[in-house]
Amino acid sequence: MYCKNCGNSINDNAVVCPNCGVQVGELKPSPTEQTANAPQKGNAVGIVGFVLSLVGALFWIIALIPSTASNALMWIAILLDIAGIVCSAIGRKRAKKENASFGGLSLAGLIVGIVFVALTVFFLILGVILLSSVVSYF
Ligand SMILES: [Zn+2]
Repeated sequence: MYCKNCGNSINDNAVVCPNCGVQVGELKPSPTEQTANAPQKGNAVGIVGFVLSLVGALFWIIALIPSTASNALMWIAILLDIAGIVCSAIGRKRAKKENASFGGLSLAGLIVGIVFVALTVFFLILGVILLSSVVSYF
């Protein structure tokens, strides 16, 4: 490229023109600064997993309350808990691997998610057994 101040040919990656000293490019943060500013992904995904599992558990409870009971809520709860398990597992893995914090929180998210999905499966099997026994009765 050419310097917009003095017109001399300069390196495309140059930030300051070597001929006249005028700034010609964007100042980019150094790699070390980028690393320092980067969010700790392991923690974020662990927290997200925990929150998803917890929200899934809440939906699950709401789905069982007779006045608000609905199959749609139960499906939302299952999907949230599955997403929670996946995110928590990733968070847990990163916490172990990179010694990041919130390893306990992602473990809690993992347990909550698994417990509620297991409960759902248990209720589904129970429902299928009850339904089949009713069907065989007729
Ligand atoms: Zn110049």
